[in-house]
Amino acid sequence: MVIGRSAAQTQRAGDQGLRPSDATLQWVTTRVRFAPSPTGSLHLGSARTALFNWLFARSAGGEFLVRIEDTDAERSRPELIQQVFDTLEWLGLDWDNRGDEPRQSERADQYREVVDRMLAEGRAYACNCERAAVDARNSAAGRPPGYDGFCRDRALTVGPDTVARFATPSAGTVEFDDVIRGHVSFECANLEDFVIARSDGSVTFLLANAIDDDAMGITHVMRGEDLLNTTPKSLLLRQAIGGGEPPVYAHLPLIVGEGRKKLSKRRDDVAVENYRDAGYLPEAMVNYLALLGWGPSDGIEVRPLNEIVEMFSLEAINPSPAAFDAKKLAHVNAEKLRALDADEFLRASEPFLAGAPWEPAGFDRDVFVAIAPEVQSRVKTLGEVPAMVDFFFLDAPLMDEASVAKAITNNPDAPELLAGAIRRFESETWSAEALHAATLELGEAHGLKLGKAQAPIRVAVTGRTVGPPLFEALVLLGRTTTLDRLKRASRSIPDEATTIT
Ligand code: GLU
Repeated sequence: MVIGRSAAQTQRAGDQGLRPSDATLQWVTTRVRFAPSPTGSLHLGSARTALFNWLFARSAGGEFLVRIEDTDAERSRPELIQQVFDTLEWLGLDWDNRGDEPRQSERADQYREVVDRMLAEGRAYACNCERAAVDARNSAAGRPPGYDGFCRDRALTVGPDTVARFATPSAGTVEFDDVIRGHVSFECANLEDFVIARSDGSVTFLLANAIDDDAMGITHVMRGEDLLNTTPKSLLLRQAIGGGEPPVYAHLPLIVGEGRKKLSKRRDDVAVENYRDAGYLPEAMVNYLALLGWGPSDGIEVRPLNEIVEMFSLEAINPSPAAFDAKKLAHVNAEKLRALDADEFLRASEPFLAGAPWEPAGFDRDVFVAIAPEVQSRVKTLGEVPAMVDFFFLDAPLMDEASVAKAITNNPDAPELLAGAIRRFESETWSAEALHAATLELGEAHGLKLGKAQAPIRVAVTGRTVGPPLFEALVLLGRTTTLDRLKRASRSIPDEATTIT
């Protein structure tokens, strides 16, 4: 019994993003949906699901819809719905039913009608079994766990103590061709009579999901592989409710983290908002997420989204688990940051500068604009920007202890290098070239290369061993501030440091 779509139909629909509707024999628009349950913030796996649906819809000229699956009243938190919308918007995944997204919590009446009809038609039945009783019957009969069909023929009346269970076929198979996983087959004997409505009358996820995919005319369902096992139930339900031709299914590969373990909310940083707050660009996020299971045929992985839309195809998705690699994401972000023009970089940096330690006073926009290109080429995230420039705007730099220890306190050359720099910088022409040449000479006098010679100067002035190019920074900072900081650092070196041999 094949009740899902066959390979030929799937191929046709997948290739063309269209499917013929049996009822009208007309081509219908590709329509996909992202159906989050608002039980937490949007995580990487869900964002990847949303993105692949969006990419598919946009590449097929179809529609991308959003539906809120909040049938689980205990776990759903309404305030998270707006958060999901905000994150989708931030990612740039626009949806076509904006402002009119179905919320399953508001569709109880429609679902109830379906349940009542299924009960009347004998496709579902009332059940009042306690779990313990089911377990006891199963173990007495040596059966595996799962509902044993005890109430199927008891003709109980629906009431406050009963759930409604779907009467699954006891023999045969449910089969379908998944675009990514190929032909999939499930034995009906292994499918228990699952619950479709709880004792309080509310329907379960599976039924609401099947009804809505049909009602919304969804042509392709792309979702995580973890839901693959529920698909035979969805197909059976769809048939039972008299739904139209089932959608094409594409179950996306699992995303695994370190040690190839499934990404975990506890172990891994999975909330998309955290990446936004850390200064990842939305274009970097979507580019990177697109690579989790898919890859462009020419192997060029970092590219504009419109090219990804053009190249994307469901058939090219790899069924094996996709490894989330935070370093690669940071690398993609660094590349996207470098690709911004100066104005875009300034604008993108602004929210990160706003919360910086020099606020409310101290910021000098002209100084930031002057050094911004050097910062832009060095940071991996916008969150790193403030630490690259804070020394310009604070009265005293924030001294990083490890940097001070390495470049000044535990560096036997530091006292003389600092003293030499103070001497030379007092009268040197205040240009990057002149300061560079003077520091080079100071280093040569001590047998040191430029990097080692400038290290104590950099830490004295900026507080850290890493930052924008030093001499350009000193020019912007000015002679007086530079000399003040060099003198302060020089005075702070304990006497014994100068006597280390
Ligand atoms: N609401 C489900 C979830 O968030 C998605 C179900 C589906 O895509 O079919 O996991």
